[in-house]
Amino acid sequence: MTTVKEPSFRESVDLMFNRAVALMDLSPGLEEKIRVCNATYTVRFGVRLRGAIHTFTGYRSVHSEHMEPVKGGIRYALGVNQDEVEALAALMTYKCALVDAPFGGSKGGLAIDPRQYDEHELELITRRFAYELAKRDLIHPSQNVPAPDMGTSEREMAWIADQYARMNTTDINARACVTGKPLNAGGIAGRVEATGRGVQFALQEFFRHPQDAAHAGLSGDLDGKRIIVQGLGNVGYHAAKFLSEEDGAKITGIIEHDGALFSPEGLNVEAVREWIVRHGGVTGYPDARHRAEGASVLEEECDILIPAAMEGVINLDNAERIKAPLIIEAANGPVTAGADDVLRAKGTVIIPDMYANAGGVTVSYFEWVKNLSHIRFGRMQRRQEEARHELLVNELERLDRYLGGAWSMTPDFKKKYLKGAGELELVRSGLDDTMRTAYQAMQEVWHEREDVEDLRTAAYLVSISKVASSYRAKGL
Ligand code: GLU
Repeated sequence: MTTVKEPSFRESVDLMFNRAVALMDLSPGLEEKIRVCNATYTVRFGVRLRGAIHTFTGYRSVHSEHMEPVKGGIRYALGVNQDEVEALAALMTYKCALVDAPFGGSKGGLAIDPRQYDEHELELITRRFAYELAKRDLIHPSQNVPAPDMGTSEREMAWIADQYARMNTTDINARACVTGKPLNAGGIAGRVEATGRGVQFALQEFFRHPQDAAHAGLSGDLDGKRIIVQGLGNVGYHAAKFLSEEDGAKITGIIEHDGALFSPEGLNVEAVREWIVRHGGVTGYPDARHRAEGASVLEEECDILIPAAMEGVINLDNAERIKAPLIIEAANGPVTAGADDVLRAKGTVIIPDMYANAGGVTVSYFEWVKNLSHIRFGRMQRRQEEARHELLVNELERLDRYLGGAWSMTPDFKKKYLKGAGELELVRSGLDDTMRTAYQAMQEVWHEREDVEDLRTAAYLVSISKVASSYRAKGL
């Protein structure tokens, strides 16, 4: 429970924006133009369910159209409201600019608890919501392209894509109207895991810069690092899974809606996820200590804290007690502006949301490009690449025979080298490159400008200057 009065989520984003623009040389008019949300559409629609008419309230907010289409997820949660959707739309603008995804920022939401409805009901509700948005071009391949967010997944995106296609039967690019679709409905390999994968790539890049890790009092790489994750949804689950299975990190805490699991030896992420799927929560999980007051685990000692659920979970109430020296914001807005001040003063390093969770929209960008080009990535090159590699391997083997076997290659090398890149490998490579490049842009500002104390301000500076130059170039 927050006892201290904090600004709303949107005000919090604006405060962080203002901190950054104070260090920039923008004209006040342009500054205001970038800060404000261009438009928010509210829709109330009825759906006949269980013999009665139910009215739902949904939103689609467009923060900035300096590039089109605008991009951003659609969230299903009871607490969805205009302030939240506008804050999230603004974060999308900055996020897309930071990682060079050529989109403006948008976000949508439906005030609904999806667990209260069965699949058929959700389909009716989603199709009706999609209809309302599509008829106003708020879903459109060249205007506004939604994606999954909290409470939505591939399933809802497939319904939205189909609804749009039914309303636009002659649009050859209809599939590009939404991203995060299942593979068999025009999706792309690696989109489901993309945000979690992006968190992993972000942390790997952070630890490639020992001076940055030293800011958080950390050294070495991810191996053996103790991590607490809040929220084992799509983002938290994939991040925790990859970090523990591939980088040797230990997940010492997992916080969920019904309490937290805690184990200094490290939790088995896959087993915990399976338990949650079967039992609806972490309660009763056998191989760890359980604490009913889950949020208190945010304050436990660890090396890295990953809030991967909701906005505002680290706030003026608990910021002072947070012990993690490094926080990576896998969720959007998990640290309030007030908490950010407290943590910065304590020396906590925060890898900000607009960078940390940009993996999702980055792979959405690849999916959108795939849909517009109507061909799977790697389809033309893969076998040709393999044939060229085979040529080289055959030649090396011939030389090896000639030298009497003195050179022999490791068997693993041959297998790995011969394999041409398929769509998943290309998506991962593009995502890794994006996360590295964006980190370096942010880091350069952080280190080179004395007036920039933290990565968040650096991230805002990079992205706001890109948005500003785009407005300057094209006019308003
Ligand atoms: N909902 C995700 C986000 O907040 C993904 C948005 C997208 O792919 O357009 O970044």
